[in-house]
Amino acid sequence: MDELTRVIRHAAEQAAAYRRSLPVRPVARPVDHAALRTAFSRPLNRSPADPLTVIDELVAAAETGLVANAGPRFFGFVVGGALPAATAAEILAAGWDQNAFNAALSPAALAAEEAAGAWLKDLLGLPSTASAGFVTGGQAANTAGLAAARQYLLTEAGWDVARKGLGGAPRLRVVAGEERHATIDRSLRLLGLGTDCVETVRADGRGALDTENLRRVLASAPDAPAIVCTQAGNVNTGACDDLRTVCGLTHAHGGWVHVDGAFGLWAAASPATRPLVDGVELADSWACDGHKWLNVPYDCGYAFCSRPAVHADALAYTASYLTRADGAPVGGADYTVESSRHARGFATWAALRELGRDGVAALVDRCCSLARRFAEGLTAAGFEVVNDVTLNQVLVGFGDDARTDRVVQAVQNDGTCWMGATTWRGRRLMRVSVSGHATTEDDVDQSIAAIARLARTS
Ligand SMILES: *Cc1c(COP(=O)(O)O)cnc(C)c1O
Repeated sequence: MDELTRVIRHAAEQAAAYRRSLPVRPVARPVDHAALRTAFSRPLNRSPADPLTVIDELVAAAETGLVANAGPRFFGFVVGGALPAATAAEILAAGWDQNAFNAALSPAALAAEEAAGAWLKDLLGLPSTASAGFVTGGQAANTAGLAAARQYLLTEAGWDVARKGLGGAPRLRVVAGEERHATIDRSLRLLGLGTDCVETVRADGRGALDTENLRRVLASAPDAPAIVCTQAGNVNTGACDDLRTVCGLTHAHGGWVHVDGAFGLWAAASPATRPLVDGVELADSWACDGHKWLNVPYDCGYAFCSRPAVHADALAYTASYLTRADGAPVGGADYTVESSRHARGFATWAALRELGRDGVAALVDRCCSLARRFAEGLTAAGFEVVNDVTLNQVLVGFGDDARTDRVVQAVQNDGTCWMGATTWRGRRLMRVSVSGHATTEDDVDQSIAAIARLARTS
């Protein structure tokens, strides 16, 4: 066997052995960061090392610092675990070493993105004519969507922002909910709009935009077009904004609706939860993640735009050495902020084929049903669930803030399952997110039992 085959096989076997260990491995454990650093740091060797030895050393060094988020009992951060075919497709993408910049560099990567993009639009209830950029995640997708919004509204106002920048530009309003995801603010910073310009809309009891308040905010300057940042899936409560109403109000003032649907947009993929994102097709740009609820490997997100030409005007560029062959698709780097890019389409294509349309719906339904099981089980154990569990997020209080923090810390140290903590409406809470394809009812029950046991002594 040649060296490359041996080392790829070896790495794949190591990865598979790790995955097999996940159901019984502690989800996380207290980490000795100094020891972990020592395991990696050594003087860089002067002469080449044997690839097989390098991989063995890497496996040994990483061992104590790996978090089992790909396993069935990781409930932090809205994180999923990569599906088998998606994982293997990712390994192929590395083996093929494709650059998804354009169709000259990887015709296959662009064709896979185009096909998977069409499936995604269908599953997520978006217009089939929308553009689909394969980006690094929700952050990049929010940046792409807001860049398209900025491009469109300023062009409408007679200002070429791509050439002139923002100095001296007509006023652009940015309206967003008080419980928006922090990545919206970073995108606004990167786009030169800054965060001071945000006109904040109150959240309703569920954590969605209060549409009456939005109506008032928009009416305060009815002639200035606004970018309205909405959310499908409040990162704490899972609540989805009333997109039909928001789109109606915003478009009446000539504005642009961006939907941050990093995980919540997947509600559209199941008939049971689709009403939560009713009207989603009316928006102008959408951000969604592959590496959260679709259970695709990192990193993978999607930036969709109802006006592909605006999307490309905001982000694409050309150069003397870049010409598009006849019939070659627009796509690749045209819809992202990167130039040379990872070929992300293969893993998404594989995940969607592996699950099929019914499998995607079943994944969404199962996670929602397991989230309700958490809520019922933890309530029955005497703890307080504070949100309306309409999607896959559960917020739990254990008395005062200090005790809640102690319980979360004890759960994280214990290793049976992993949950994070959050502050919502001034209160410290345990945040449970069910997003993994491998989680079963038994995993939820084991986790509830562990939490109840640890809460008794916290
Ligand atoms: C996770 C998340 C993001 C950021 O996505 P990344 O994939 O981490 O870049 C943005 N918005 C919401 C609502 C999220 O849940």
